[in-house]
Amino acid sequence: MREELEPCPFCGTTASHGVVTEGGEANPDFGGHFIQCDNPNCHGCMGLRFACGDDPKPHLAAAWNTRAPTEALTERASMAAEIERLEAERAEQWRLRRERESERDINAAVIGELKAENEPAFPRPGFDNPAGMQDGMSLRDWFAGQAIGAIIAATSAGQHWPGAGRDDDRPIQDKMAADAYRIADALMTARETNDAR
Ligand SMILES: [Zn+2]
Repeated sequence: MREELEPCPFCGTTASHGVVTEGGEANPDFGGHFIQCDNPNCHGCMGLRFACGDDPKPHLAAAWNTRAPTEALTERASMAAEIERLEAERAEQWRLRRERESERDINAAVIGELKAENEPAFPRPGFDNPAGMQDGMSLRDWFAGQAIGAIIAATSAGQHWPGAGRDDDRPIQDKMAADAYRIADALMTARETNDAR
C-alpha cells in the first residue's frame, strides 16, 4: 500500500502522520493515529484510527490520498469508453465483411458450376446476364439437336436401333431423344477432357 501522502486537498500544503500522546492512557484518544495538514492555518485533518492489531498508517494514507476524479481523469475514462466502442464497431464491421465475402465466394462457386453446366451454344461476349452468364441455347442442347436428326434418319433407314442394349419398353421417340442426349453428353465430356482420340 502506498504510504506517500498527497498534498492537503484544501490548501495544497504537505501532510503528515500524527499520534495522540497527550493526556496519558486516561485520554480516550490516546494512541489514535491521524493525518493532518502541515499548514497551521488550515486545520485539514482526518478522524482518528486506532491500531487494532494492524498498522493504521497505510489505511489512513489510502483514505487521505483518495480524491474525487479530476476533469482530466473523467475525460480519459470517457475517451477510453469511446475507443472501446469504436473498436467493437470496427470488429463488427470486419465480421460482416468476412460474412459478405464468404457469401460472395459461395455465389461465385454456384455461378461457376452453372456456367460450366450450361455453356452457351453461341456465346455473345459482352452480353452476359446480371449473374454473369450467357443466355440462349446451351451447347449440350445444340449437340443433342445435331444428333437427333441423324438418329431419326438412321433409325428410319434401319441402320440404328434406339436404346440398344437397354431393357426398356418406352416409345421409340423417347429412346431416340435419350440417345441424342447420350451423344450430346459424350460430346460435352470429350470436349471438356479434350479427348480427341
Ligand atoms: Zn491544508
